[in-house]
Amino acid sequence: MALSRRDAMKFTGLAAVTAAVSGYAKDNKGGANTSAKAPATGILLSPAPIPAAKGPRVVIVGAGASGLTIAKYVKKTNPKIDVVLMDKRSVFMSGFISNLVATGVLPLDFITHDFLEGARNGNYTFLQATAHEIDRTSKIVYTNEGTVKYDVLVLAPGIDYDYSKWSKGDVELETALKTKFPGAFIAGSETLTLKSKIENLEGGVFVQTVPGGNYRCLPGPYERSCLIADYMKRNKIKGKVLVLDENADITIKAQGFHSAFDTLYKDYIEYVPNTIITKIDPDKQIISTEMDGDLHFDDAALYSHVRGNKILEIAGVAKDSVFNKAEANIDPFTYQVIGDKNVFCTGDVRPMGFSKSANTANTEGKIVAKNIVKYLAGEELGRKTWSSPLTVCYSAVQGKEMRAISVHAEYAYDEAKKSFAFANAGTSEKWDGKEGLDGGKGLVEWGKGMYREFFN
Ligand SMILES: Cc1cc2nc3c(=O)[nH]c(=O)nc-3n(C[C@H](O)[C@H](O)[C@H](O)COP(=O)(O)OP(=O)(O)OC[C@H]3O[C@@H](n4cnc5c(N)ncnc54)[C@H](O)[C@@H]3O)c2cc1C
Repeated sequence: MALSRRDAMKFTGLAAVTAAVSGYAKDNKGGANTSAKAPATGILLSPAPIPAAKGPRVVIVGAGASGLTIAKYVKKTNPKIDVVLMDKRSVFMSGFISNLVATGVLPLDFITHDFLEGARNGNYTFLQATAHEIDRTSKIVYTNEGTVKYDVLVLAPGIDYDYSKWSKGDVELETALKTKFPGAFIAGSETLTLKSKIENLEGGVFVQTVPGGNYRCLPGPYERSCLIADYMKRNKIKGKVLVLDENADITIKAQGFHSAFDTLYKDYIEYVPNTIITKIDPDKQIISTEMDGDLHFDDAALYSHVRGNKILEIAGVAKDSVFNKAEANIDPFTYQVIGDKNVFCTGDVRPMGFSKSANTANTEGKIVAKNIVKYLAGEELGRKTWSSPLTVCYSAVQGKEMRAISVHAEYAYDEAKKSFAFANAGTSEKWDGKEGLDGGKGLVEWGKGMYREFFN
């Protein structure tokens, strides 16, 4: 279901804002910062305090794996293009590698990085701001720092959680679940909460849920279960990780994870597939399931379903994909919004069934960056300008010696099914012996390589 701009207004209650905004937008030519404010809404209508554009301007909302890559490679491909990268965060913290940080294997510094370093080395403008509203007719992004005009807009805002199956609209319950048992699949405070939970583990049952749909980082919940079990084993903590998986089996690298669960963590991991959760009581710490009844837990990382970030609905560019709610309504070959070629949507909000992972976002980002430069030069984009992103994903199954398994895959379009499928895929799933140790080294080096891609 495609959401119209009118639906988005209903959803956000922003109709009044837009009325004020479009009246103003006619006069907004950039320039002096006059600090004008819309009296009714408090949205800042003056231009954001950034230098005037010195060429066609590409504005990117979201400085994650996708946005950082696109900012760097647009500028690298054509330095005359003006690039503004905005993010609501002041510091970059990656989700990838964060399971190793939460379980004390690597320091917090490893995943924490400086947006300004990326801006200095990439020669683009970084704006710490939250995009609140987008007027695609006037090509303006409204932020808490003021307005930013664009020629091309990239929306790379990543995922939001979709708690609707668990909370059924009860926001008190949703807030309690998010506060007490965050999924820790959006890096930041959730990562720090998980780290402190693990540091203070006293034993008992730690639940890790695995959602259905195309959730962010398919192997992530299984990797984390291994690392928490490894932590319990190393520190002689009497407890187990109860993995409640909505799927019929481990969704990726199943052989490697199953063999780690069954041998390394026989007494520490219980894996339960096909688990449909009907209710969660965060105070009594009880999860009710269709098949296994009520299960008590001592602590948990409750990973809900995911959905596209809400800014897509606000911008009127969201549709439900076959996997998740409110992902980007784009041409899968060009990443351009259907009906608005000046807006590209990339990274985890794409509706194609690619892996929602950093390597995928990075390789895809390089392709999209080149295509944005072509588009600004007047070239049409289409099937011929598409090429496959590459998914390379290592998962640690043991923290102390650093043993890991991995998968690599590209994608090809299946004409008959009208969808993408894995192509040239391969896995390395032996975590014992040299292969696993090499995987561990590969994981750390891959992580460092990602940070170099984003910031150097
Ligand atoms: C625990 C965990 C383990 C993972 N393991 C791996 C792994 O081993 N390998 C791998 O490849 N990937 C892994 N990933 C997945 C990977 O981190 C994501 O798939 C990737 O970061 C997606 O990139 P993105 O740019 O689409 O989104 P993100 O990296 O989430 O970036 C989105 C950015 O947009 C910003 N934003 C959102 N809305 C707004 C707004 N309105 N205004 C301004 N800014 C906004 C956010 O602050 C954020 O910085 C893991 C993730 C987690 C959480």
